[in-house]
Amino acid sequence: MLLAVTDPLTGLYNRRYAEAYLADAIHNSRATAQPFTVMLLDIDHFKTINDTYGHAAGDAVLKAVGDKMKSNVRAIDLVARYGGEEFLVVLPETDVKLARKAADRLRSCIAEMKVDVAGDNSVHVTVSVGVAVSEASIDQSGKTLANAIMTSAEPVLDMLLSQADSALYSAKSAGRNRVELSASHA
Ligand code: GH3
Ligand code: MG
Ligand code: MG
Repeated sequence: MLLAVTDPLTGLYNRRYAEAYLADAIHNSRATAQPFTVMLLDIDHFKTINDTYGHAAGDAVLKAVGDKMKSNVRAIDLVARYGGEEFLVVLPETDVKLARKAADRLRSCIAEMKVDVAGDNSVHVTVSVGVAVSEASIDQSGKTLANAIMTSAEPVLDMLLSQADSALYSAKSAGRNRVELSASHA
């Protein structure tokens, strides 16, 4: 049986695929000594949209946000639906400076978007973004290249996701519609 790799509502890659892709990105970044970036984006006050306009409107917003993100990243970047109203973006060859720009571009293009939903309503949404950057050169210090490539990506994957998640939490606490970088890159 083929395992599903996409999410039916948004057409984006699903969480399982995104995590496999992220493990590959970690290996590639070690092999090439290139940095890369992970972002978690969560729609702000999404529950209110469902409560006010209905679940179908919420679905339309999810689809629109997904499409908007997809068309505002590079071909090599991966956009995935990570959970209910949470998205993961993996950006290869992206350092802190580029990451900041990309995250703010996504945040602002979503904030400017208008989604038409049933009953002649149009809905505006914002997202909060948590960003974590992996500096490959730091990662593989003291290891031979072959070693670095062979070593499991899992601890780094878990660490990056947890850094992005903490940064996302900070963005929410600081008022939403914001980008926060993981503490080690702030
Ligand atoms: P916050 O700004 O703190 O992120 O608040 P929030 O309301 O966005 O977050 P919360 O976790 O309270 O609510 C998320 C909601 O997303 C609850 C859930 O019903 C809704 N949701 C999750 N998946 C789907 C979906 O596929 N379609 C629709 N319409 N709603 C969904
Ligand atoms: Mg939310
Ligand atoms: Mg959420």
